[in-house]
Amino acid sequence: MKVISIIVPCFNEEEVLPIYYNAMLEVRKEISEATIELIFVDDGSKDGTLELLKQFHEKDDNCQFLSFSRNFGKEAAIYAGLQHAKGDYVGLMDVDLQDPPEMLIQMYHILEEGEYDCVGTRRTDRKGEPIIRSFFSDCFYKFINKISDVKIVSGARDYRLMTRRMADAVLQISEKERFSKGIFEWVGFETKWLEYHNTERVAGETKWSFNKLLMYSLQGITCFSVSPLYLASGIGTLFCGISFLFLVFILVRTMVWGDATPGWPSLVCIILLISGIQLLCLGIIGQYLSKTYLETKDRPLYLLKEDSQGESVR
Ligand code: UDP
Ligand code: MG
Repeated sequence: MKVISIIVPCFNEEEVLPIYYNAMLEVRKEISEATIELIFVDDGSKDGTLELLKQFHEKDDNCQFLSFSRNFGKEAAIYAGLQHAKGDYVGLMDVDLQDPPEMLIQMYHILEEGEYDCVGTRRTDRKGEPIIRSFFSDCFYKFINKISDVKIVSGARDYRLMTRRMADAVLQISEKERFSKGIFEWVGFETKWLEYHNTERVAGETKWSFNKLLMYSLQGITCFSVSPLYLASGIGTLFCGISFLFLVFILVRTMVWGDATPGWPSLVCIILLISGIQLLCLGIIGQYLSKTYLETKDRPLYLLKEDSQGESVR
């Protein structure tokens, strides 16, 4: 019998967990020819999430959990889940039912046909989401697809089911600063995309503030493209050239017409502009430098407090 491991990151999700669990019971009935194993990753929740997960594990052998010592973020939770998933197929899913559980049945059947290594999902709309969030999200996908070799499908979700060999490939990428959507594309393999309309969270609140999302998109850009570094040198060169031409112009003007004392406002403007651009370039370089710094420190991506196997710290 084939085993499907589904990784479910949870951060303060006590409200929605029982609803999710019941919905998954239905899916399990539909895919009776395979065993669906749920691997919940408690990402340092402060509410009753861990207690609920322990209860699920007690009554259900196919319900495992890992619990982090603090909040390490969804990316770390996905990685931890992947490391622990032993199934023939490995899936990722949010707990808030924004990823329709019944789609798993279709995903499973597509993978069983053997033509694809991954079935991904993408939202065709963002109904119910703040307009400003959708706008920035669209801009992000357009920008990253322009400057990076890795193409990310617009509206792509983390919700997907993949074969063992693709999951192993993803696991080989052990970088600390992770951007899974990019990693899934980077490893290659044939992916079939299923589309669906956005659904709102059944309970609880989103754990992603605007700021957190902004930081995550910057991470996406710097993890998968070095073009911003070229951009920095490009802008730098351009402005060096302009400054040089300006210098020549001022020299010639002073020699021909004498020293014009007024003109300091333009000077101040130029200094401000150029120093602003220098700071921008330094900032871009700093971003990449900080990434290198974090990778060389080689800290673990997450630390376990406990898990359903009874191991304490990894
Ligand atoms: N999540 C997590 N750690 C975090 C933030 C979120 O494990 O630091 C989980 C969360 O419990 C949920 C999934 O990631 O299962 C998606 O989060 P959410 O629904 O809040 O994001 P949104 O759908 O609003 O993008
Ligand atoms: Mg959600």
